[in-house]
Order: sequence, then C-alpha cells, then structure tokens
Amino acid sequence: MKKHTLGMISVMTALSMAACSAATDVPEATTASETPAATEESVESSSNAYKAGTYTGEAQGHGGTIKVTAEFTEDAISSVSLDLSVETESIGQAASETLIKEILDNQSADFDAVSGATETSDAVRRALKDIIDQAKGIERSDSKEKTALTDGTYTASATSFGFTGDMVGEVTVKDGKLSDIKITEETDSVTGQWFKTAEEKLIPRILEAQSLGIDSVSGATASSGAIKKIVAGAIDAAGGNSDEWYQAPAKSTETVKLEGYDVVVVGLGGSGILSYCAAAKAGAKVFGLEQAAALGGNSASVYGPMAINSKNLAEKYNDGKDYMDADDLYDTWIEYVETDKKADIIRKAIDDSGTTLDYYMDNFDFEFDGMNGLLGSFVRKDWDKEWTVYTADENNTKWYILGPDHSYQFIRAMEKAKAMNKDNDYMLELKGEELITDESGNITGVRCTYYDGTTYEVYGKNVILATGGFIGNDDMMKEYFGYTANVIGDTLAKGDGIRMGQSAGGATYAMRTLPMIHLSQVPNIIRTGDLTADQKAILSALAITTEAPEVTINGEKWGAEDASGTDESTGLTVGIAYAPGFMYYTAWSQEDIDNIRTNGLSETTANANVNFIGNGGTLPAAGTPVPDIDTILSVGEEFNDVLSGTPLELAEKMNVDPTTLAETLGTTKDSKDKFYLVACAGWSYGTVGSLDVDINMNVLREDGTPIENLYAVGQDSEGVCNADGKAYSPWGGQAQSWTFVSGRIAGENAAKSALG
Ligand SMILES: Cc1cc2nc3c(=O)[nH]c(=O)nc-3n(C[C@H](O)[C@H](O)[C@H](O)COP(=O)(O)OP(=O)(O)OC[C@H]3O[C@@H](n4cnc5c(N)ncnc54)[C@H](O)[C@@H]3O)c2cc1C
Repeated sequence: MKKHTLGMISVMTALSMAACSAATDVPEATTASETPAATEESVESSSNAYKAGTYTGEAQGHGGTIKVTAEFTEDAISSVSLDLSVETESIGQAASETLIKEILDNQSADFDAVSGATETSDAVRRALKDIIDQAKGIERSDSKEKTALTDGTYTASATSFGFTGDMVGEVTVKDGKLSDIKITEETDSVTGQWFKTAEEKLIPRILEAQSLGIDSVSGATASSGAIKKIVAGAIDAAGGNSDEWYQAPAKSTETVKLEGYDVVVVGLGGSGILSYCAAAKAGAKVFGLEQAAALGGNSASVYGPMAINSKNLAEKYNDGKDYMDADDLYDTWIEYVETDKKADIIRKAIDDSGTTLDYYMDNFDFEFDGMNGLLGSFVRKDWDKEWTVYTADENNTKWYILGPDHSYQFIRAMEKAKAMNKDNDYMLELKGEELITDESGNITGVRCTYYDGTTYEVYGKNVILATGGFIGNDDMMKEYFGYTANVIGDTLAKGDGIRMGQSAGGATYAMRTLPMIHLSQVPNIIRTGDLTADQKAILSALAITTEAPEVTINGEKWGAEDASGTDESTGLTVGIAYAPGFMYYTAWSQEDIDNIRTNGLSETTANANVNFIGNGGTLPAAGTPVPDIDTILSVGEEFNDVLSGTPLELAEKMNVDPTTLAETLGTTKDSKDKFYLVACAGWSYGTVGSLDVDINMNVLREDGTPIENLYAVGQDSEGVCNADGKAYSPWGGQAQSWTFVSGRIAGENAAKSALG
C-alpha cells in the first residue's frame, strides 16, 4: 500500500471544499419533516376484516417504484415482503427489516418512518395502505375522487439534499386545484445545479398533471422528492389526502426515429460536451443525448482540470513561460501505474492537457483561474500550477461546495457547437439504452428512452460513449470492489457506456482502479434536525480525527498511517480508498467518551476539518466540555453512523470475529467494557476503470483491434491512465483533464471518420 502525502491547499479552497462536499443528487433517502400524517386507522384485528390472500402494491420511493407484497389471513397481516431494489442500498434498502417488523407489529400502515429513510418509509406506507384497501375490498385511494382542498396558501417543509436546513415551500390552492408552488428556502443549491433543475422542470409538471405520481427529475431526485413532500404536506394541510394524489400519468409508447447524423454522443457531461464541440467544429452533424435534465454532469460541479503548460494560462500566470516539467510528471505517472502498456496515452494525456485547454478556451470560450496558489497538487508542493480552476460566474460569487458554478460555460459551449451546423441538435432527459446494430453487427445508432416514455432511435455513423463511469451501479461496484461506495457525485453514472461498449465486443481496462476518493466523513449524513449543526460537527470530528485507533469493517486494525494520508488542514484523503468497504471506524472507550463529556475534545479532534459535509456547524475549542456527547452518539447510532456495545455485542453487530475485534480494541472478547465505533467513510466522485481505448479513443476489442465507429471518453475511458488495485492518479485534476483531452480526440476522430 502506498501512502500519499498531500500538499496543503489554501484556506479558501479548503473551506469551500469542506463547506460543500455534497453529493450530487445522490441524495439518499430524503426525509420530510412534515411527513403527511398517516390517515388510515389501524386495522382492528377483528375476524373477517380481510379477504385472505396475497396482495401487491406499488408506490414511488426515492429511486423509483417500490413494491410491497403482503399475505393476509382473515384477521391479520401474516407476512410482508418488500422489493426496495430501486432504493439506495445503505439507506432505503437497509430500512427493509425494520419496516417489515413495524408493519407486522402495528398491523397497519400507521408505523414510524425509519430515520434517514423517510421517503422509502413513506412509499412503503402508501403501497401498504393500498394493499390493505385491496384486502378489505375498498376502492384504491388513488383511483377515488380526490378529497376536496380548501383554497389558500399553505407552507410546508421537507428535508432534502442540503445539509444545513430543510427545504420550505408555499403551495397555493385555487378553485380546489394546485395553482402555484414556490420554494422559499433551500440549501440544495449550494451543492450543485440540481435544485434549480428540479425547480424548473418538476413544478410545472406537478401543476400540469395535478399529480405527485410523476417521475422525479433525472439527476435531481432528492430535490424532486423534497418538492413533492412539500406539496403533499400542503395538500394535507388544505384538508385533502395526499395519498390520493399519486396517480402516475400514462407513459408514451411512441417511437421516434432521428436519422442522418455523423456523430451521436451519449451523455452530455464534461467529456460528452467537449466531444460534441470538437466534432461540430470539425464539420460533423452531431446529435447529443443526456439522461439528466441539465447539461454538464459531474463536470459542472468540480474544481477544474490538470493543465500542463497551457499557453493561455502561462500568459496569465507565468510570464508566458512553461510552468511544469512534463517529463517529471510523465516519469511519476509511469512509476505510479507500474507499466508502460499505455505509455503513449499517458504521454498524450500530459502533453495535450495544456494545448487542449487552449483549444477550448480559444474556440468555445472556456475560462479558467486559480493558478495563483488556489489549488496545488496533492502530492508535490513544487507542482503548484499543475491544476487550474474553472472561472465562476462574472462576480465569482457562486460556488458549490466542490467548485465554482461553471455550468454556464458548458451550456455556452454547447450552444455555440450546436449553431455550427443547422442539423446539430441535442436532447435532455433522453437516456441511452443500447446500441443499434445492422444485420452485420455494425453500430448504426443508439436506442434511447425519453422521460415521457417515448422511444427514440438515433442513427449516426459514429457513437461516442460519455456516460461517466459506474459509481451509481451497485452490482458493478460489488463485482469489481466487493462493496458500494458513498457518492459525492452523480449516481446517474450507472455504467451504461461501459455496458454498451461491452455489448459491441469492447474490452475493459483497469476496472479495479479504486474509485476517486479524497474526502471522508460519516457515511450517513444527518440532514434532519435531530442534531444541531454544531452537534453534527462533533460527530464528524469523532469520525475523521486521526486521534483514535481505527478499525476496519472486518474488525481488524486499520493503521492511521495507511489509512488516509489525511491532510489535517484540508481533510483530503487518498488512502481511505484502500480500506475494505471504503470505510473504517474510529474506536472510543467509555472512558474516552466520559472524558470528552467532562474535559472536551482533544486539540487534534477539535481541529479536525469538519467543513466537508459539515452541516454548517463549528467545533467547540479543545477542552470545552461536551455535556451532550451521549445524545450525539445515540442519534449517530440511529443513523447507522455509530455502533456501541461490548466487544461481543459489537462483533455481532459488525458480523466479525469477536476475538479479532476485541484484540483490535485492546481488550478481551469477554470484556464488559463499552466501546463506541464511529464510522468514517470515503466519499467518492466516481469510478475510474473503463472501456479499453487506443490513442484515438476508439474502443478496443479483447484482441486489441479497434471498433472503428465506437469511441469512449471521460470516465468511460479513464482506466487507461490508471492501474488496477491502486487509487486514482492522485496528483489532482487528472480526471477532468482527461475529459478535455479524450473529448477532443474522440470528437475530431469521429468527425473525420464520418466525413471520410
Ligand atoms: C463533486 C465532484 C468534484 C470533482 N472535482 C474534480 C476536480 O476538481 N478535478 C478533476 O479532475 N476531477 C474532479 N471530479 C471528477 C469528475 O467527475 C470528472 O472529472 C468528470 O466529471 C468526468 O467527466 P465525464 O464526462 O466522464 O462524466 P460527467 O461529467 O459526470 O458526465 C457523464 C454524463 O453522462 C450522463 N449519463 C449517464 N448515463 C447516461 C445514459 N445512459 N444516457 C445518457 N446520458 C447518460 C450523466 O447524466 C452525466 O451527465 C469531481 C467529481 C465530483 C463529483
């Protein structure tokens, strides 16, 4: 295992990085603070209450449609099974056992939501209510005439993706209908553009359909879920019954054919847009499709790319002179990947990084800043200009937690590229499903689904895959790493590009390169008000401090040295990517906790950088008593961020060998001493392993021959710059640099091949 020493980055960077950290709209189960009250009465266990049998109900959860199946005797619910496979594994799915127990104990749909998984709980409640109605022979609530609403304006709130407070909205009911929805408070927009997208797209759709059964906006599911919760709360406050408002509008079954393109780009995040631009500039007719409701993908909320000796940046920051030793970086890189198998590509990734940025600055108006010490390399202090930062909006005021708001740059470039040919076009909310091939197996286009259900067949001579890797695909994560990871970025990255490439015979490269992880925090961000922001900061500090012994999820010792290479000033880590399950626990004895209660946090812990996903709280100075430490730990336990118990009890909870765990804790397995394990998880931007490509970005078959009209870019081809089993090339900005370099190469080559 290699330990990386991380360089310091400026306070401003550290703070904004910290303050932000958010994940994309990965937001797991969002939680309504005003969960509409369950309206059904508990079913009395009286004889003949039900028609015995098995019933199934569905409802929209956080990630899609969940299913509940329940068996009824004549007077009881005798068994329940839940299909929560669409929900986030660590939250919604994890709630399954508790929900089943709650249902069977309560014998009704009036049960407590599971902390942190209220959206899933609420969907289960609605589906169960429907099932109970079926078993009682009552008409389904969503097919009944809706209970009348009283006109007025109602305020409701819901926990959303933001870390520092609920989303609040005002809903106006006029003539018994929803006539206006305004979000008056939210903190989701500091984590990225997702809230804006949800607000723009979802609200008109709810108003038009007069339904909450419409799909959440792709790429903005947490914000969408919160908006729906707010509307549901308002409906209930207006005297209605929100359960009656979940009818899903019928989906289109039409098929539309779009033909005659030279290049079809699947995914319009960074690398897709940059490919689109280069292909358009080279004269090709280009079509782009993006599953999310906004352009830019993860690339719209990052800091910026590595940039080696860009002429424009050299002018601005280095008197026109080169500012990096490209050979030095090349040698470091080859040493890092321990093979020269892809040496030609790595050389190009370095040499083209500056010239490619210049190309996009000169032709598509991209703008970068920050070579004045804002961001230096993680690994080498002397590489202080290795990395650049996107220019934020004109006033440089709008920053997300992990970078400036620069989606405007991608939108501007896209519009410019689209205008280069009257036939160029692109569509949002259009998901690439599979490659279309002719009888001889040649790729001729992409079959896609629009959000309203319409199938699109987009035909073109060349296809560029730019779907951002596979961090959002639990099955692939488990296949390659054995575990899923906590995600800061976009979970729409479900490996679709890699799957499509493989379906055409494409090989993969370095699929087991560890996911990009530089940040760690508790695994389950507490977005509710169960703790104050300052209390959340203490929980975070206990998780990420380097003071406490560290225990792997297998109960073994995880050395602080290997653990993280954590830079205390920035909280950035690389090494946690190597930990089993991308996480470990910090271990605290009861004595440690008693000491914190009376004597406060140590210097080290009180200075841990908790800004990242920090919920806006601040830590008390070292030595300040923490009288509420027990509350902090017990709420942490409720959210699965803390485990407590004797070594035996902990071993059972962790499903590990008690002797091993006890030894790691420095005691014996029969000890009656109580310990607290605070979970510290790596938060990942995305995966790195990818399709194999050659220097032209052509996808390669197992035998090394190129699939002529298929290209892969960005995280769909980034494995070629990395190495199986290692952390992603850790000097900073390489992934984003690759989006530019690979994007331009693929766009130009696809255009050239199409135009002959
Ligand atoms: C918060 C954050 C900060 C980061 N900071 C940096 C940084 O400072 N420097 C750096 O080098 N890297 C950084 N990264 C890494 C960054 O993710 C990559 O640099 C970059 O986003 C990869 O570009 P991409 O085009 O491959 O993926 P993306 O930009 O994410 O684009 C992929 C797009 O494909 C779409 N898509 C997926 N499936 C389909 C489908 N089936 N059909 C249609 N569309 C689909 C997605 O919706 C998405 O828009 C950061 C990542 C995150 C999440």
